[in-house]
Amino acid sequence: MQILHPFAGSVQQYNEQLSDPDSHRPGHCPQCQAKHPLTAHGFYTRTLIDTAFDGIIRVRRYLCNTCQRTVSLMPEFILPYLRSSLTVIALFLVARLLEGQTIAATVRTVAPPMSYQRGQFWVRRFRSRAEALCAALAALTQPAPAPDFVHRALTMLESTGWIAAHRFLFAGVRCHLLGWPRGLAPDGRRAALSSAAALA
Ligand SMILES: [Zn+2]
Repeated sequence: MQILHPFAGSVQQYNEQLSDPDSHRPGHCPQCQAKHPLTAHGFYTRTLIDTAFDGIIRVRRYLCNTCQRTVSLMPEFILPYLRSSLTVIALFLVARLLEGQTIAATVRTVAPPMSYQRGQFWVRRFRSRAEALCAALAALTQPAPAPDFVHRALTMLESTGWIAAHRFLFAGVRCHLLGWPRGLAPDGRRAALSSAAALA
């Protein structure tokens, strides 16, 4: 299971504070509700592309000694199963969908440079999620007047802050800002014993 690591700061700062297993150790198990702190259980690595970072980060894992399941402490600046940071995705979607730049222009101007296909994928996913996002985010902020759900969702995300919105959606309602990949149940649990969903 993935839970969010409440960390605000740069990727470099995240990497530096990761060596202390006590700093964000969960005090109880979110899966079986055992009321004892979890045991540090190593790391897994994943790729991350941020505005000023392109490489591998570590994600800390903890083990519950009662149910023997692991919990990963995922930093808030990433979305599960997506390589690019939330900041990069937000910059792209705002430039494309709120400011009306073309995908071709946006992939050239957003940092770091990226493929047309990846931008197209984010736009498609965001459009299909916009109405549901408006409904979910209404618990967090006043719905803004807007010509359509895409503009309204973007305006709501800009006013709450993308990371704050992601924290609310993920921790509160197990909702993925761009939707869970195929093969996972709606709340992100693996639906079957299929191979792990690839990072898009
Ligand atoms: Zn447990």
